[in-house]
Amino acid sequence: MFEIKPYVDSKFCLECKGCCLFMKEKWLPHLLEDEKKLLEKDRIKLKEINNTDGCEFLNRKNHLCCIYGQRPFECRLYPFLLVRNEKTLDLVVHLACPFIMDSRESEYFKTYSSELVSFLKKSPAVDLLKKEYKAFRVYPEAELFKIESDILGKG
Ligand code: SF4
Ligand code: SF4
Repeated sequence: MFEIKPYVDSKFCLECKGCCLFMKEKWLPHLLEDEKKLLEKDRIKLKEINNTDGCEFLNRKNHLCCIYGQRPFECRLYPFLLVRNEKTLDLVVHLACPFIMDSRESEYFKTYSSELVSFLKKSPAVDLLKKEYKAFRVYPEAELFKIESDILGKG
């Protein structure tokens, strides 16, 4: 799986704990089919990440991700999200993330968003997204701010 430079500073996340521990139930990642196969190949015990007790891959002692190098695409991308619509995927940010609310008007946000759009529209990212776009979900629109429509160029 390709790397995506994290948008949020890890110190900020450790204080928030909105992700991984899901204490505030902000967001729950899911696994794409390719990711399930990769984890199974490495004999990583696999359950869907679908509860609010925290992610099974989180080390509770040091708050680090046990599968950091293989963490799901959605974990790498968050607080940016890909939202499925009828034909394609739109790139949005999740307004439930406090770091987004703090930084949304900044130059850092604009530059990062623009670089992310370019990255997602090129190989290898766009190839994976075309293959698995039906696996992405729909989120409540009130929590989202749209960055770019039609990442797959199908519109
Ligand atoms: S909601 Fe945002 S700030 Fe909080 S842990 Fe997740 S990415 Fe970090
Ligand atoms: S897989 Fe890792 S990064 Fe993703 S929610 Fe679980 S602990 Fe967090």
